[in-house]
Amino acid sequence: MISKENSFEIRIVFDNKCNEEGFLTGFGFAVLIYNKFTKNYLLFDTGGNSEVLIHNIKKFNINPSEIKKIIISHNHHDHAGGLSGIYRLNSNIEIYVPKRVEQLYKQNLTKAKVTGVSDSMEIDQNIYSSGQIGSTIKEQALFLKTKNNEIVILVGCTHPGLENFILKAQKISKVIAVIGGFHGFQKYSYLEGIDFIGACHCTQHIGSIQKRFPDQFKQICVGNSFSF
Ligand SMILES: [Zn+2]
Ligand SMILES: [Zn+2]
Repeated sequence: MISKENSFEIRIVFDNKCNEEGFLTGFGFAVLIYNKFTKNYLLFDTGGNSEVLIHNIKKFNINPSEIKKIIISHNHHDHAGGLSGIYRLNSNIEIYVPKRVEQLYKQNLTKAKVTGVSDSMEIDQNIYSSGQIGSTIKEQALFLKTKNNEIVILVGCTHPGLENFILKAQKISKVIAVIGGFHGFQKYSYLEGIDFIGACHCTQHIGSIQKRFPDQFKQICVGNSFSF
């Protein structure tokens, strides 16, 4: 499945639904990304627990201190709770958080290079933040642009509505995959034309999504790897 032709390798290192043998589950979500354009490891969210997170990263034979950049989708414990463990191993790390919570992270993680993201920006070559969106809860998603100019969306909980992240990504290029927590999302027409629907973590209507998109729906478990 993993070939040199791909642009990104994605490994699920934290989720609460299911796991492959030897991996641990916990409440939250985290995805380890290997960017073949830069040869960097990036972590999107950190789950709710450092020990579970670090166990799962090591289970993939990756040293957590190799991670160059961490992107926190939003400031909820099930997405930011594992951050302290990575920070202890590598305190010089770059961390990208929604602008609204920038000061909080700067105060707590004084050695890290914390960036508050307001508008869409390139975080690593071909990996973009959506920018922070939403009102009560500010949240960012990641858009991974492949060599074929197609977009893979990684989302945390999508509190501001998954459709708003999809609409933003579609302005860049065609969306081929969306992976993460869909929360109470039911506006299913926005998923039409997306080949890979990886609804997991906090997705409430997972059964309905699977039923409506039986060929596109992919079950996401801790320990899974995907290439795009
Ligand atoms: Zn949340
Ligand atoms: Zn969540």
